Amino acid sequence: MRYAELAEVYDKVSQTTKRLEITDILVGFLKECPSDIIDKVVYLTQGRLYPEFVPIELGVANRLIIRSIAKATAVKESEVEQLYKKIGDLGNVAYDLLSKSSKQSTLDSYSTETRGNGVTVEHVYENLDRIARAQGGGSQEEKIRLLSDLLRDALPREAMYIVRTVSGALRLGVADMTILDAMAIAFCGSKDARPPIENAYNVSSDLGAVARILVERGLGAIKSFGASPGRPIRPMLAERLSSPEEILEKMGGKCAVEYKYDGERVQIHKQEGGSTALYSRRLENISDHYPDVLKLAGEGIRSKSCIVEGEIVAVDPDTGDLLPFQQLMHRRRKYGIEEAMSAYPASLRLFDALYYDGKDLTGEPYPRRRAMLSKIVKESERLRLAEQKVVVKAEELEAFFEDAIAEGCEGLVAKSLGEESLYKAGARGWLWIKYKRDYKSEMNDTVDLVAVGGYMGTGRRAGNIGTLLLAAYDESDDVFRTVCKCSTGFSDEEIRNMKKLLDPSIIPHRHGRVDSKLIPDIWLVPSKVLEIRGAEITLSPIHTCGLDSIRKGAGMAIRFPRFTGKWRTDKSPEDATTVNEIIEMYNKQLKKISE
Ligand code: ATP
Repeated sequence: MRYAELAEVYDKVSQTTKRLEITDILVGFLKECPSDIIDKVVYLTQGRLYPEFVPIELGVANRLIIRSIAKATAVKESEVEQLYKKIGDLGNVAYDLLSKSSKQSTLDSYSTETRGNGVTVEHVYENLDRIARAQGGGSQEEKIRLLSDLLRDALPREAMYIVRTVSGALRLGVADMTILDAMAIAFCGSKDARPPIENAYNVSSDLGAVARILVERGLGAIKSFGASPGRPIRPMLAERLSSPEEILEKMGGKCAVEYKYDGERVQIHKQEGGSTALYSRRLENISDHYPDVLKLAGEGIRSKSCIVEGEIVAVDPDTGDLLPFQQLMHRRRKYGIEEAMSAYPASLRLFDALYYDGKDLTGEPYPRRRAMLSKIVKESERLRLAEQKVVVKAEELEAFFEDAIAEGCEGLVAKSLGEESLYKAGARGWLWIKYKRDYKSEMNDTVDLVAVGGYMGTGRRAGNIGTLLLAAYDESDDVFRTVCKCSTGFSDEEIRNMKKLLDPSIIPHRHGRVDSKLIPDIWLVPSKVLEIRGAEITLSPIHTCGLDSIRKGAGMAIRFPRFTGKWRTDKSPEDATTVNEIIEMYNKQLKKISE
């Protein structure tokens, strides 16, 4: 097929913004398109060569494109560059220069066999594919050769679109949904056929493959097309509500609630006898960033093949506490993966099973998928299922929400338990409802807390005290009640000297004036006061500060505590922030939310 025909479609599509017109243009073209290149044409129209999840980038640098245009048109590189500076679009530069040179060729009766006869879609795709895959020494020269070969043969308009494609600037703005409509009309006669086609796309994220199956094997094949490992499923998304009552009402009086972890969503695909891959919420292959997650999945997921979904979370190696999402972003890097892996080790909290040993589970209701998940996952310290509970009362839901916040989560995701609770790939709907705190609370003030215990560090901090158990002062009983564990904000030197500094206070048992449910590695006589900044105060089942004052069984915790660097040597432990002050700060926060 001549690439000029595709270029014509691009031209027409760029001249309108109306979705119906764009659909019509695509329908006409798809009907004419040979079936063996339909997938390629679909990818090209989206400005790429493969589905999004294939980790091969086309992206050719402008510098190389300029050299390729110069080579193809026999114009000096500096001239191409100047023209680019003037026009600002390399596609137009290629168009202008090729238009001039073809006129010149006719004048000189220069052989038109080699120049300006046009190229085929197959040829364009093949060269672009080779460009995208070229790697290592000599690859830049190879890319220039492949691109200039194409441009030399291309018509000016073709060259314009080829250059825009390789530079990542095609951006026709054709939505995936428009292509789906066009496929339904072109191959099945009407838009009514779109739902099964869209479903096939949602479970495969591969528009090209769906088009090819539709043309070659018909709608029947599309209807029976299911999820399979190696093709990421477009994620199901949640609606949002802001009170437990509304959530329960929407869910028909009963639902499951799960912790909403503050990490990176991941789909784990394990192929039979083959590899395991990780895909992000945006369907990128992120396997290279998380070798530790691949290992966890390899060890803990018992199946020949499967697709499971969950959240990658960062966990403080010293305390085991969940860390905020930002910490995990240190893992999204190209180099230094090993270092990042030991500084920010990842854990997994799985919440769904979408495929298991040859069977697509997306059409099963949530309770069955969750049961399957617990069957195939062997939990360990770092690999767990998302905390879950079935609730029927608003108070239960609220209490679970507070536990989630206390554990460092963002809130809850409520999930329907009904027969209709299928995994709706690619859709945001009411089968999942998220319930989060809608405010960003910063504790207005720092607090001064007393060290009452210590934990030995791991990794870089091995052999040293890496974490302190901190307490607030309770005036009424003259005791110190724990409120957080803190391991951040200390310099390496402070950590090295911590043992020496605390040595005079170390005792073999809990001090009589310390109230703690936790048992640290080392107990301390309450003496040292540290200034701490936290993100917010939450209810907590594990700390004793303010126990029972807001809710029976719950104390208070400072979330994400960080040492400011100030040892308050000017304060005695009895001058530390009091339990009552912490309760007051918590209540102020609540007022802030309701305002
Ligand atoms: P947000 O920014 O609130 O995470 P989102 O648009 O990424 O929103 P939503 O579907 O609206 O996604 O909210 C659910 C998100 O919460 C999921 O994308 C997932 O990353 C995360 N999450 C954490 N824990 C769970 C869980 N137990 N079940 C489902 N999603 C969870």
